[in-house]
Amino acid sequence: MDANPNLSPESGGFNPTMDMRQFTAFFNQVAQIQGHINKQLNPSQDPASPYFILPSENSGIPITNVTLNGANYGAWSRAMERALKSKNKIKFIDGSIKKPESTNSIFETWERCNTYVVAWINLSLSPDISQNVLWTNIAYKLWNDLNHRYYQGDRFRVAKLYEELYALKQGDFTVTAYFAKLKTIWEELDNFRPISMCACEMKCDCGLGIIRMQRKEDRVTKFLRRLGEQYSNVKSQIMLEGLPSDFFKAEGEEEVEEVGLKPGEDKEAEASCIVLFATKLDT
Ligand SMILES: [Zn+2]
Repeated sequence: MDANPNLSPESGGFNPTMDMRQFTAFFNQVAQIQGHINKQLNPSQDPASPYFILPSENSGIPITNVTLNGANYGAWSRAMERALKSKNKIKFIDGSIKKPESTNSIFETWERCNTYVVAWINLSLSPDISQNVLWTNIAYKLWNDLNHRYYQGDRFRVAKLYEELYALKQGDFTVTAYFAKLKTIWEELDNFRPISMCACEMKCDCGLGIIRMQRKEDRVTKFLRRLGEQYSNVKSQIMLEGLPSDFFKAEGEEEVEEVGLKPGEDKEAEASCIVLFATKLDT
């Protein structure tokens, strides 16, 4: 039996005057226009749209390892913002994408993204806090709610850290322990009150470089001033001459532990150690 003549190219199907190359070009053009229309109709298909969700995305896996505990709002919100930015979902918390009407064609797509963001935020809350916001299921409302509740806690924590800082001195601590305590306080303060990275290319003229340098100097001074009296020689030497710029820079963390610091044992080792600690603040 003969093949169905209707399917032969000569009798129809497509224009016989159009050769294969032309057909391919035509087909690609149609596909492109179609893709463009699809993106406009359904932004969830457009990888550049905030409505786009990667197939590998999982609303059950935390996107940050910082858990909001009520006293770390600054660190938590920054970590969360970074993570959401990397997933192109920041607009769901900053209010630029609002909940659409349920009759709007985008509603289902919005709802899906919102559900992801709410789940990710909830995964990063301590159980107590999570209970408090259980019924808030719109991402930007949840974000604002958490800000109102916990941002305040931040200021008290910062004040407390400054009090601890002023009161801290070496006393009976080893230099290593004293240094570690200072560093812990400073790191937490930096989380609450970060100095932005400057974007100047060669020479800094935005002012941030100077602010950063002054903060380093203040910290070296604080570290030295509250060291025990037994280190007064090294202290005054560094205060007068400043820090050797390349001193011990290449040495690792373990080196400090190894040298240790037992007052009076080895004057030179002690001096090196103090300088090393002070230099470590300078980074
Ligand atoms: Zn700058």
